[in-house]
Amino acid sequence: MTTPSRPPRRVAIVGAGLAGLMAARDLRARGLDVVVFDKGRSPGGRLATRRIGDARLDHGAQFFTVRSEAFGTHVREWVDAGVVFEWCRGFTDGHGNQAGDGGGDGHPRYAVHGGMNALAKHLARDLDVRCDSLVFSLHRGDGPHPWEVKLDDNSIHHADALIVTCPLPQTFSLLVSAEVAMPEVLWRTDYDRTLSLLAVLDRPSAVPAPGGVQIDPSFTFVADNHAKGISLLPAVTVHANPEWSEQHWEDDPVTAHDALVELARPYLGDAVIVESQLKRWRFATPRRIWPDAHWSPDDLPSLAVAGDAFAGPRVEGAALSGISAAAAVAAAV
Ligand SMILES: Cc1cc2nc3c(=O)[nH]c(=O)nc-3n(C[C@H](O)[C@H](O)[C@H](O)COP(=O)(O)OP(=O)(O)OC[C@H]3O[C@@H](n4cnc5c(N)ncnc54)[C@H](O)[C@@H]3O)c2cc1C
Repeated sequence: MTTPSRPPRRVAIVGAGLAGLMAARDLRARGLDVVVFDKGRSPGGRLATRRIGDARLDHGAQFFTVRSEAFGTHVREWVDAGVVFEWCRGFTDGHGNQAGDGGGDGHPRYAVHGGMNALAKHLARDLDVRCDSLVFSLHRGDGPHPWEVKLDDNSIHHADALIVTCPLPQTFSLLVSAEVAMPEVLWRTDYDRTLSLLAVLDRPSAVPAPGGVQIDPSFTFVADNHAKGISLLPAVTVHANPEWSEQHWEDDPVTAHDALVELARPYLGDAVIVESQLKRWRFATPRRIWPDAHWSPDDLPSLAVAGDAFAGPRVEGAALSGISAAAAVAAAV
């Protein structure tokens, strides 16, 4: 008599940002059955790219750096696959002076052919990623697959393990429904906001080569998407700094848009704005980073919470956090 083989363990992941997608790929490579739910129309979360006519603009993350070998291995694969390219090795401060990115200057800054969101699409390409799927609540049952993921259409999906990668205030609400208590410092983690202007121009911008300004007191970043190589038309993305964004958060969209255009004027030069949009990132950057790359309750190892509030508030941190969470739940099921 043959023993029936055990069906693959099933893991549900909430969030198809980089943390969720990296976790999903890692788990699938280990032979687990994975489904990823995201409330957005497409995967990527803060790896976001928008088309306005023939222009294409990154409006969340603008580029990324590599500080660890673990992430570097993935980035080399993406470069070899023709998905990612080295954009440059540093930006100016807007007056032509070189500006560093934390660890000094001269380090590669990577961007994605077709915009940052194309990396998310590449990672999601052969995974079971369900977009337009808002996770409404999480529960623990006593059936064969104890985790229950309830979507806003009332459907319920069962899993053996769960990874939640939303910004922490959203994760907190979901875990309350599962009667899981997160440490207070985690659920109290607040995020800086970012007001972002996307503007298509009638001629090249005044953003200096190589098409990015990293150090300007008013902005966290100013990008020329044409110079970066992702837009056919001249198009800039302007990220107001956290203080300015907070101050103008409650403004009506037209007022905030017009104020941001004025602030960005030095980078527009003689160009006229052909079309523009304002984008609001409520959860742009976590203000506190948890010391470990993910969090799991001691008595519930089949649950992991991940995202950029764990391994660092940037693309690399989100990726490493997702990978860390995947290893933990794979060991638990
Ligand atoms: C304006 C801006 C500029 C940035 N610039 C840079 C940069 O230049 N370089 C850099 O390295 N990093 C940058 N970052 C940070 C980087 O984008 C993030 O660190 C990283 O993308 C976070 O990935 P994540 O998977 O942790 O979270 P997210 O990308 O936020 O993914 C979480 C996902 O969860 C989904 N979700 C939330 N709630 C639910 C729910 N209830 N049901 C289903 N789905 C849900 C969301 O839709 C989202 O897709 C920037 C971020 C912003 C906002």
